[in-house]
Amino acid sequence: MHINVTDEECKRCGECCIKGGPVLHTPDRVLVVNGTLSPADLLTIRRGEPGLDPRTNRVVLLENELIKIRGVNKIGACKFFDSQMHACSIYGTRPVECKLLKCWDTRELESIFMKDLLQRKDLIPAGAALFELIENHDKVFDIKKITEALSGFPGPGSWNFSVIEKVVREERRFRQKVMKDLSFKEADMDFFFGRSLEEVFAVSGP
Ligand code: SF4
Repeated sequence: MHINVTDEECKRCGECCIKGGPVLHTPDRVLVVNGTLSPADLLTIRRGEPGLDPRTNRVVLLENELIKIRGVNKIGACKFFDSQMHACSIYGTRPVECKLLKCWDTRELESIFMKDLLQRKDLIPAGAALFELIENHDKVFDIKKITEALSGFPGPGSWNFSVIEKVVREERRFRQKVMKDLSFKEADMDFFFGRSLEEVFAVSGP
């Protein structure tokens, strides 16, 4: 992850923002509380989901959930990157990771990697009906357990789709009901309930 370059100042190349939005940490909570970041700006990656470890470039199962700023089309450039101006549209209130990232010296950023992560429980009051719904969803559609039930992880080519088709269908029904009952948009769902199983396992619906 450490990049050796000779220039020690930001050239505003935008490379860091183009690679995707930052993971949020506890000090970023205020940005959600004060409305700088709304649920539709965020994406929850749940515990147990496969994700790329940038330090090793290997796919691992996440030990803890994390919340990221969404990319364009979820995984593209950070949604706050203004490609015309080549600048961050929330620069003054950008999250901690963006403040610490210096591409010529990534040690500060590495020092907080997967530490003090902001999680949904830090943003939604425990005991609230919505939080109970989230907990129930995590329990019923536990990605870690589902992933463990798959043979040959990782790699879509080796997944046993018949094992997960049913659960993917059930989760889709759950999400549709929540969107209808709570008037949530698809983007809100990605924060409150994480990416759909359909997306995580890249299964096209029956
Ligand atoms: S929040 Fe701003 S600085 Fe951070 S990745 Fe997005 S565009 Fe770049």
